[in-house]
Amino acid sequence: MFDIQKIRNDFPILSRTVNGKPLVYFDNGATAQKPKAVIDTLTHYYTYQNSNIHRGVHTLSREITTAYEEARKTIQLHINAKQPGEIIFTRGTTESINLVAHCFGKLNVSEGDEILITQMEHHSNIVPWQQLCEERKAVLKYVPINEEGELKLDQIPLLLSNKTKLVAFTHISNTLGTINPVKEIIQTIRSHSCAAVLIDGAQAVPHLKPDVQELDCDFYAFSGHKLFGPTGVGILYAKSEWLSKFGPYQTGGGTIKTVSMEKTEFAEGPLKFEAGTPHIEGGIGLAAAINYVNAIGFVDIQKHEENLMHYATKRLTEIGHIRIYGSSKHKTSVIAFNVIGAHPFDVGTLLDKYGIAIRSGHHCTQPLCQFYNIPGTIRASFAFYNTIEEIDLFIEALKKSIRFLL
Ligand code: PMP
Repeated sequence: MFDIQKIRNDFPILSRTVNGKPLVYFDNGATAQKPKAVIDTLTHYYTYQNSNIHRGVHTLSREITTAYEEARKTIQLHINAKQPGEIIFTRGTTESINLVAHCFGKLNVSEGDEILITQMEHHSNIVPWQQLCEERKAVLKYVPINEEGELKLDQIPLLLSNKTKLVAFTHISNTLGTINPVKEIIQTIRSHSCAAVLIDGAQAVPHLKPDVQELDCDFYAFSGHKLFGPTGVGILYAKSEWLSKFGPYQTGGGTIKTVSMEKTEFAEGPLKFEAGTPHIEGGIGLAAAINYVNAIGFVDIQKHEENLMHYATKRLTEIGHIRIYGSSKHKTSVIAFNVIGAHPFDVGTLLDKYGIAIRSGHHCTQPLCQFYNIPGTIRASFAFYNTIEEIDLFIEALKKSIRFLL
């Protein structure tokens, strides 16, 4: 049973106050809060398990190596990858995308080739491709969006050609909450080109359980910290055929099979891409987060978040002076809006006085803001531990802020 009070008790930070008011945390799109299960995993690691992985023969090292590789397996099963060897630990979504841009670009992108992205991407899924195209004299194209904040799907076949080497797009828009029809888009890509497909899953994983085999993507990237896990750890899923073709990303300890003074033979599988001592506690903490959300279940999580989103949208619409951006039929619990006549930073600063944490700005999607011709928005993004009562507090604080500003 979905017991919201029990769930909230699992997140110690939710009981703190901010500016003398109970914290209302609606900035989950930026980073999610951590349950005790994750905090305890990190504390346990530093208290009893701290040791380096893979190269030690002593007990602590062997124990933590097993725990780290178990974590890789937990992540593999969670996203239904074929094998744990397709799961690479990175620092986060941004590094996962940079890894693909570097390794795929070196292998596969040359002058005149094309990379396709979309107008709703986070800067982390734009800039690495811009840099790659500049370096390789390739061409970067994008799928435009409509006023509702949906991709213009009919444009995709027209933008694909035999020059398209890779298509990279987001599963869920971090600004608008639009859930893209990933499977359908990948089918279109497959039937019109030989391009590889990278999905930016940063905003999807807190709300749904992706199935990478069912989606048939080549790469799927996400961050631990948005999935209720630690910061500084992320995942790149890559089909094994790519990993065997890719050269290394960064090199050094951990990536090698043998090194002589003359040359290096690299390790196979994910280790080739995990240079140096990794974020060990991040990996096991992320697995703890995944076990935690799976114990609640994504069916109940989605039902609750949908209620929050509909309720908040209705209450916001009733206030007046509000413009909401993004009205896709397939939308997760993210609402981007502006108070007409007020700057998003001013609204955000006033809401903070009432203990409400929302984000204001361009949310690292400047091209999207350029499409709507705005400097940015206020973004309220909900997680499964948020409540209807918190939305009421937010609406009351927003009304007071509007009275002050207008
Ligand atoms: N892509 C999307 C859609 C995001 O929302 C974010 C984080 N806001 C990122 C990529 C980058 O994630 P990170 O900063 O964890 O690397």
